[in-house]
Amino acid sequence: MNLLTENDQQGQYPPSFYADTVSHLPLQPPLKGEHKADVVIVGAGFTGLSAALHLAERGYDVAVLDAHRMGFGASGRNGGQVGSGQRVEQDRLEKTYGLDKARQLWGLAEDAKALVRHLITTHDIDCHYRDGIAHSCWRQSEVDEDHRYVEKLQREYNYEQIEPLDQNAMYDMIGSPVYRGGSIDHGAGHLHPLAYVLGLGRAALAAGVRVYENSMATRIIEGKKPSVMTDQGAIHADHLILACNGYLGALNKPVARRVMPINNFIVTTAPLDTESPSVLASDIAVADSKFVLNYFRRSHDNRLIFGGGENVSYRFPADIRAMVSKPLHTVFPQLKDVPLDYAWGGTLAITVNRMPCFMRLNGNVLSASGYSGHGVAMATLAGKLLAEATAGVSEGFDCMAGLNIPRFPGGDLLRWPSLVIGMNWYMLRDKLGF
Ligand SMILES: Cc1cc2nc3c(=O)[nH]c(=O)nc-3n(C[C@H](O)[C@H](O)[C@H](O)COP(=O)(O)OP(=O)(O)OC[C@H]3O[C@@H](n4cnc5c(N)ncnc54)[C@H](O)[C@@H]3O)c2cc1C
Repeated sequence: MNLLTENDQQGQYPPSFYADTVSHLPLQPPLKGEHKADVVIVGAGFTGLSAALHLAERGYDVAVLDAHRMGFGASGRNGGQVGSGQRVEQDRLEKTYGLDKARQLWGLAEDAKALVRHLITTHDIDCHYRDGIAHSCWRQSEVDEDHRYVEKLQREYNYEQIEPLDQNAMYDMIGSPVYRGGSIDHGAGHLHPLAYVLGLGRAALAAGVRVYENSMATRIIEGKKPSVMTDQGAIHADHLILACNGYLGALNKPVARRVMPINNFIVTTAPLDTESPSVLASDIAVADSKFVLNYFRRSHDNRLIFGGGENVSYRFPADIRAMVSKPLHTVFPQLKDVPLDYAWGGTLAITVNRMPCFMRLNGNVLSASGYSGHGVAMATLAGKLLAEATAGVSEGFDCMAGLNIPRFPGGDLLRWPSLVIGMNWYMLRDKLGF
């Protein structure tokens, strides 16, 4: 079982709205024969390309391998939400790691959003970035909790860009009858993720990075001079960075024991009627309070991009449209008759405690993955921190690596069944509303 090949065609982007509305990059050659580099990176998503770009800017000779194309993985298929904070709320971070570390983690997450905006501006990436993510709640108890958290961020973290919303204000913003209220974070945002990751790719190529596409790493050898092998070639380098996220497979066991792949699905409607904007009157993104959350936003050409539904089988379901249209039509009953032009799936990676897994596997082998659905900004920052750590400046990397992500229970054989049992329990809770 190899998730790199299980659900997709070799070297092809999934047939998504994103792939149809982006300016594609020229195909890069596959790796053939023996090569050298200062740094070799496996994986050309946000993590790998951001690392490559930042390293090239520091003068390193960098080679990146991807089994398919740049942005083929989660980075080119996601909901495009550039969220604030870590995936885990500050309350829990304070309890788990103490106040100082929690504040440091909040600061890094703020850096992550700023870095995304900086890269977009500096490299002139046309990815339709817009401000605003609302958190919408299904139950009054969740609204109360959300408003308490908003107040905490304003008071204790001086974060003034977030404000509470009552049921009417939420309805005016979103146009869905199901939500009881929540909040709007003007400091977060949303973008076209494939356009963004290809923008990073374009910038990396311009900075002199060599990218080898259709080049699956089949084996790595750690050591003073780590090597990465493919079927047709090898790269020998001084440093190795693993940026494979949900597609890592068996390439590295210590990471694989802590980072679990999981699939998630998105549909896109036909363009909506602009005359009567009953859906998302504000051009914001939304993530709701379900455990398997619904998330949505408008595309630049006025479609609704809606994500929902997760499966914990390796394979994508045969009918993604049917699966995602259930939550979509519950949230927006007024869209029942609107055709769904696109449906696709993607593989992300989660960790036990939903914090990203940064690891120093060896002095010169680094890895970052497991952003648990919160990777647009964090994976971009991870690339920068990986580059800094490679260059010997590791304060940010060490802060993240110090989180010591636990292994999934059950070892290699049982971790998947344990996850299935756990996820099914939470999915049942979402359905029954308790
Ligand atoms: C449907 C979906 C919706 C999401 N929505 C959001 C969202 O709205 N906001 C948010 O913040 N996050 C979201 N995420 C998560 C986010 O997309 C990821 O956290 C982020 O893209 C991770 O980036 P990455 O570069 O680490 O991994 P990826 O983008 O998955 O890149 C990994 C790359 O490594 C390559 N690779 C792997 N193994 C090998 C190998 N052996 N040899 C060569 N190449 C290899 C793959 O081909 C792939 O291109 C979502 C994810 C999905 C799937």
